[in-house]
Amino acid sequence: MTSKGSPNTGICCNCESKYSENDETCPACSNHVGFPNVRFSDSSENVNALIERFLLARKSAKSRGCYKEFQEFRKHIKKKSGVVISMPAGIFRDLIKTPNKIYRNYEQLVQASEISSRGAQFDNLRHAISGCLFGSYNNKIAYGVLSLNKEGLPTYGDVFCLLRPVTIEKRTSFLEENSYRFVEKHNILSGRPVGNWATWRTKHLLALVKLERFIEKGQKETDWENVFFLTNGKDRNLDDFIEAHIYGSINYSSIENAMPAPNKKLGRLEKLDIEAGMSRLEKLKEKR
Ligand SMILES: [Zn+2]
Repeated sequence: MTSKGSPNTGICCNCESKYSENDETCPACSNHVGFPNVRFSDSSENVNALIERFLLARKSAKSRGCYKEFQEFRKHIKKKSGVVISMPAGIFRDLIKTPNKIYRNYEQLVQASEISSRGAQFDNLRHAISGCLFGSYNNKIAYGVLSLNKEGLPTYGDVFCLLRPVTIEKRTSFLEENSYRFVEKHNILSGRPVGNWATWRTKHLLALVKLERFIEKGQKETDWENVFFLTNGKDRNLDDFIEAHIYGSINYSSIENAMPAPNKKLGRLEKLDIEAGMSRLEKLKEKR
């Protein structure tokens, strides 16, 4: 993929002033002009490149004799996929128990001195990557994974929190792979490649482009759940997944469902935190 997205600037429909690719509100009148991550993924350059790749994936599935499975997989993604954020047990408990608590990404937590940095090398790399992808709004992005079965990545936390679609669908975009790997692979400094991004509406196209190679004759839903993202549970560098970028804040009311990471050894305190958070979440859900 060599084509790059053009600057996604626009004209405010309220005051006709120009706004830039990274603006969420018009700099002249503060009118909301759309979430910048979603605007980029919804640009005609990206959508056209994504559809082109989708048609190639569909052709490949047809020629391999698994068109029926391709279409079933497509339906399954549209019906079942959701965004899961993995978080440490203590943060989960706090988020559920404290109504005015806002979930924060790593950069925000370090800036607020709520956690200590994981070291200069990790920090510098993380800032460089999120800066390349999101520029001045990088600290507004929360990261999750597109999932088919409510599970997330154990490499990022002990609790998998499935988010309520109604709270995130307008402000979430998706990237074909882990942003670290994406930035490493492409020459991002000269612009973001297109065809690798999706909105809530087009996420199934992106998933089929990425996963068509796994589709085989006679497969069922569970076969697809097993390849939807890959992780060995230990090394983040080996994780392969569709990354979700959620613009703005998340609180207890954004969470639909939570579960402890299966197959992960948890300490007594972590188990207690998770149990307390989950039972509180069930009570909160009854009131929705
Ligand atoms: Zn305006």
